[in-house]
Amino acid sequence: MVFYNSDTNLKIVVPLEQLSLLHKLCEESNPYETGGIIIGRYSDDGSVAFVSEMTNSPNDSIKKTTAFKRGIAELQKKLDMLWDKSYYYIGEWHYHPNSSSFPSEYDIKQKISLSQSKSLKCPEPILIIIGGNKEYWTYSVSVIMKDCVFQFCSVE
Ligand SMILES: [Zn+2]
Repeated sequence: MVFYNSDTNLKIVVPLEQLSLLHKLCEESNPYETGGIIIGRYSDDGSVAFVSEMTNSPNDSIKKTTAFKRGIAELQKKLDMLWDKSYYYIGEWHYHPNSSSFPSEYDIKQKISLSQSKSLKCPEPILIIIGGNKEYWTYSVSVIMKDCVFQFCSVE
């Protein structure tokens, strides 16, 4: 799927296989939230973000029915390994079981603080939220830039 936002002129390309994998992880986790990080790379001119992988939740994550705190177990090791292959941390995903994929105020606050994290080196993180359940999945895709939230629409 391709997501686009005209204010930023950025396209985000998410392979269907990655979405199917996410659906599986969400289905297993329902009724609890789950999530992980988004790995990928940007085109040379920065206009396209290619998502290559959305990871399962680290073991030390906290999962509740209406809250998710991503853990950090093994994360830095994985990111260092990917960095060598020119793949990077580009954002976060999580699941809102049986409800709307719209980001909560807390989601936005948390993403703004992540965008300021020096260790993640990602000032403009992508946030993907999956809503619903296996009967009907919904998505919201947004990017935080300079403390503003830009919502993306699916175009393909
Ligand atoms: Zn949320």
